[in-house]
Amino acid sequence: MHIDHIGIAVSDLESAIRTYEKLLNRECYKREVVDQQAVETAFFKTGESKVELLGATSENSVINTFISKRGEGLHHVAFEVENLEEEMARLKKEGFTLLSDKPGVGADNKRIVFLHPKDSNGVLVELCESIKDGRSNL
Ligand code: ZN
Repeated sequence: MHIDHIGIAVSDLESAIRTYEKLLNRECYKREVVDQQAVETAFFKTGESKVELLGATSENSVINTFISKRGEGLHHVAFEVENLEEEMARLKKEGFTLLSDKPGVGADNKRIVFLHPKDSNGVLVELCESIKDGRSNL
């Protein structure tokens, strides 16, 4: 496992992109809407890992819910795994709560699943696996 990216919930994606472009001294290299979660993402490369800014695309987006409860800020930490189903089975056995039984489609060509933050000291954990050729249909 390595940290693939950290996700940061923002209320104004355009302004957050400008802020992070200044902070990291590089341009956002990719923007992508993830319809399943009603979010628009913006990515920055930071060495082997990335920063993912997350803005809501609709009123009932998970990002709006998060921001109304906790304000802007760190939303999740994403670990890349080799085999998502294997990791899901292992963590389930260890007593972690998966937020969905099956992987969903994430941004950046990934299959993803989230773990409940109550099991990881308040941190929402995302597991992600890069979609390899021929495996892109779930
Ligand atoms: Zn993420």
